Amino acid sequence: MANLFSVDEALTRILAGVTPLAHEMILLENVLGRILAQDIIAPVHVPPFANSSMDGYAVIASDIAGAGRENPVSLPVSMDIPAGKPLQAALRPGTVARIMTGAVVPDGADAVVPVEDTDTQWDTTSPEIPSEVAFFVSIQPGANIRPIGEDIQKGMNLLQAGMVLRPQEIGVLASLGLAEIPVVRRPKVAILSSGDELVAPGEPLQPGQIRDSNSYAIAALVETYGGVPVRIPTARDTIEDVRRRFHEALSHQPDVILSSAGVSVGAFDVVRTVMNELGEVNFWRVNIRPGKPLAFGHVAGIPFLGLPGNPVSAMVTFDGFVRPLLQKLGGRPDDTDTAAAILGESVRTDGRRTYFRVKLLQEDGRLVAYTTGTQSSGALSSMVLADGLLIVPENTTYSPAGSELQVRLLRRMSNW
Ligand code: AMP
Ligand code: MG
Repeated sequence: MANLFSVDEALTRILAGVTPLAHEMILLENVLGRILAQDIIAPVHVPPFANSSMDGYAVIASDIAGAGRENPVSLPVSMDIPAGKPLQAALRPGTVARIMTGAVVPDGADAVVPVEDTDTQWDTTSPEIPSEVAFFVSIQPGANIRPIGEDIQKGMNLLQAGMVLRPQEIGVLASLGLAEIPVVRRPKVAILSSGDELVAPGEPLQPGQIRDSNSYAIAALVETYGGVPVRIPTARDTIEDVRRRFHEALSHQPDVILSSAGVSVGAFDVVRTVMNELGEVNFWRVNIRPGKPLAFGHVAGIPFLGLPGNPVSAMVTFDGFVRPLLQKLGGRPDDTDTAAAILGESVRTDGRRTYFRVKLLQEDGRLVAYTTGTQSSGALSSMVLADGLLIVPENTTYSPAGSELQVRLLRRMSNW
């Protein structure tokens, strides 16, 4: 007899004892979307030196005190400082330095006057340095200078373990000069499916056969949550073939093994026979709809989850049980979105926690949920049409229109 569990209890059992995988060092150009495995203490200041934020003239502010359009102050140009060149010398008092955006501000100078506020022009066709410049403005010390460490101070802990590396974090890592980054290893997930009726896309379909869609949708889900999917070819409904495919899955040394189909209670299922032989697997009935049957255990010490065969059930149970497992293994935060919505129509359930595929519409400033039509656990079209999964809690059988419920949003790619 299979155990009956609440969704929360099933998840607690699945996650018990799971810890994040070890870290690996990878090249900076490959870290997008990965999880930082260690805090990064800034090894340097960014910027590494005080630099000009304008094309103009580095000055000693007090040298041009009182300058204005009517009474410009003229000073000789003693240096030319392009970007990317080390500093030659300190600025001589009573002189100015022509300076480019990003160039090192010379010692002694305490401000930069933009070229627009002088009688010169920045003319790349005549690179001649003017011998003297008239300033039309006076300026505060510090103006148009980005001080050393203005962005990031050496020793600062801006990037912490567990962060998802987005483009901005990648830019910071580059600014800090780090070429290899410690990230949490991505969990490798072997994906099995079984059924005599299943045929891969691209192969001829005989009467009575259907396409294997689960392997592909589940592989895409694994990738979405930071895992590396390994699709194993579909097993026939024989003990020998299922056993052979499980051994093939194990040969990839996965961190998780997933299968879909063959876990329903009472069904003739070879998956169960093979599981009893290869591992420690329990067959559960979970108080969830769609997706009641679920198998969980370990095969050769590797966590194994057997999802239902129906495609929507497989996706919903993936979200409920596999996604949290992958997030925990991958050290990944749960950044899925939920929102409160008003039911646009009444819904009935059988007392299990039920996930309705819904469209969300803005009506009078409120988010209103309507079912996408057929809620069959085999109808993947309902997943395509859905903006979210409306969650009706356990032990409710009737939810009238107008009730407020939570919706697991599926609008963004990272949330599928
Ligand atoms: P089962 O658990 O084997 O009884 O399968 C339940 C339902 O899911 C049946 O209608 C199967 O045809 C369907 N199914 C099982 N595996 C897949 C798959 N990989 N892709 C699409 N449908 C599947
Ligand atoms: Mg089957």
